[in-house]
Amino acid sequence: MWLFALASCGAVDEEPVVPTPPAPSDAPPTARMQTYQEMVADRDAPRHPGDGGGTWRALQPVRTQVGQRVSVPTELEVGPHGIDLGGALVVVPSPFWGWSAPQGKQPEAPGYTTFTGPEGVTFDLQPAGGQLRAVVGGRALQSGERVQITYGAGDTAIADRFAERAAAVWLGVDADGDGVRALVAEPVTAEVRAGPPAQIVATWPSAAAPGDTVDLVLAVLDANGNAFGRHATELTLAAAEGLQLPSVVRLDEGDEGLARVPVTVERPGVHTVDVTALGGRFRSNPMVVREGAVPILWGDLQIHSALSDGTGDPTDLWRYAREVAALDVAAITDHDHWGMRFLDGSPALREQLDRAVAAAHEPGRFVAVHGYEYTDWRYGHRHVLAFDGPLPVFSALDPATDTPQELWAALTGRQALTVPHHPAGGPVAVDPSVTGPPELEPVIEMTSVHGQSDHPSLPQSIYDAVPGTFVFERLVAGDRFGLIGSTDGHDGHPGLSHLVGGRGGLVALPATERTRAGVYQALRARRTYATNGRRIVLRVDADGSPMGAEIPAGPVTLTVRVVGTAPLDRVEVVGPAGVVASQPGGSTTLYRPFAVELADSGFLYVRVIQADGGLAWSSPVFTADSASAQAPGR
Ligand SMILES: [Zn+2]
Ligand SMILES: [Zn+2]
Repeated sequence: MWLFALASCGAVDEEPVVPTPPAPSDAPPTARMQTYQEMVADRDAPRHPGDGGGTWRALQPVRTQVGQRVSVPTELEVGPHGIDLGGALVVVPSPFWGWSAPQGKQPEAPGYTTFTGPEGVTFDLQPAGGQLRAVVGGRALQSGERVQITYGAGDTAIADRFAERAAAVWLGVDADGDGVRALVAEPVTAEVRAGPPAQIVATWPSAAAPGDTVDLVLAVLDANGNAFGRHATELTLAAAEGLQLPSVVRLDEGDEGLARVPVTVERPGVHTVDVTALGGRFRSNPMVVREGAVPILWGDLQIHSALSDGTGDPTDLWRYAREVAALDVAAITDHDHWGMRFLDGSPALREQLDRAVAAAHEPGRFVAVHGYEYTDWRYGHRHVLAFDGPLPVFSALDPATDTPQELWAALTGRQALTVPHHPAGGPVAVDPSVTGPPELEPVIEMTSVHGQSDHPSLPQSIYDAVPGTFVFERLVAGDRFGLIGSTDGHDGHPGLSHLVGGRGGLVALPATERTRAGVYQALRARRTYATNGRRIVLRVDADGSPMGAEIPAGPVTLTVRVVGTAPLDRVEVVGPAGVVASQPGGSTTLYRPFAVELADSGFLYVRVIQADGGLAWSSPVFTADSASAQAPGR
């Protein structure tokens, strides 16, 4: 989930009409009880039958570009229950990324919004938290009457930073004026196109064998990572000897800023491609070319679409994941009960998401995973992934599944996983006293746009961190997790959220079959590593055992190979006592055996810290047959 308080979407506007339930005495100290109670109160608030009624439509197609000014003229046809004197209409632009807040006072200022009703009806305009409430005066509105509402009259609405085909502007209707409103069935939408081209992302596989032909994916993006712009661009490609590739790639407007170029790799070594275009130079991720090089799948398993609180239609997000970010694996994980609409209350939204997953999934080429986010304000957020097909939304707001234990019980028997998400803080930390069964919760999300949850001393530490919930601390306490990253992106840029602000997340799956079963098995076995978005190559071998394995206590040689995307600052081996071995950086690559000790009930993992803010973490190796292997009660 994202930081912004979205409980207001469909929630109590001003004075709560329904008393908030008392805080359960067993709520963990990490809980965000106020948010939880607001969500419960909103769920239980009675709605007048006229709330959310009526038909809202745009009076003309609305098209603009990110950050540009636009006007959104609309009309509401009042629903069959009418709107009482004292009832209200509430204009709710997408609350993310900088759409101007609607206001009714200053015609020259951003977000100026006008209401024009039938004869005898007046509107008292009251701005409230990025929304504008228009209280009906004069007389009630009758069924079928029309109200003209222009958000951004005089081109004063400023579009947000992220492109999408149908950016939603919502209208809430509180027909009886009790302060509880519901959104109309459909928003009006604006097409928001990408800005001018500003950067190239060049992506190819992290590993190949001599003689292979691989695809180099070239994406022309604007400054915020938006794709699919219609501009002609010429790209010049340069690489060291040992590759067969074209020296120039020309994109015309119809290419939407995308190219897929076959490259034949001839010579072993570490290769990159430099792309010169748009007045700059952009480097691809590194590719290790050697006989027997272990392929790596790259995934983003935490993405939000506009169906809950993110940007973009699911179909467009899948296209971005596959064609722009060149991901191998992804999951769109919209919220069960958070955002503009709630998955747990809308079978139609779930079906829309499931259809998009089915259309994107192509075993052997691209793995699309079913999922959603279990948005639990008491015990922490988890994203739920299902590898055996569509999954019902077991909601954190449904009394039948509103504890993690009930969620795990509901998932038993499925090829499903839950992933503790932004575990050390951000919107809400994950209660460390509740750990899932290892078959359902084998990995934890180390990094996302919220920052990293490894250790507060490292760069990009998560905001609003809660001591005792960092992954390092949980490993010391005996929990056993493999480590993954995912963006938790709400910006429409799966896999590439780090392009804006540097924070993000990816999961790397070495030697994994490109199928749902292969990805499921790799996550279950903790054969994963995490990065904050950069395609760093990291290999860790513990006396012949891979990351995630359980091995005997005692002396062990950890053989670490790193190929960074930028010069390394340092590489650290971490155990229960903290950093047990370290290698200062300098170059972009490291090959080094570390002779270290694996303690009883211990663990060892590797951190990679690049000078440019790039981060990676191997999953730990753990001590076999230790008392903590079962971690009873944790
Ligand atoms: Zn979340
Ligand atoms: Zn999320």
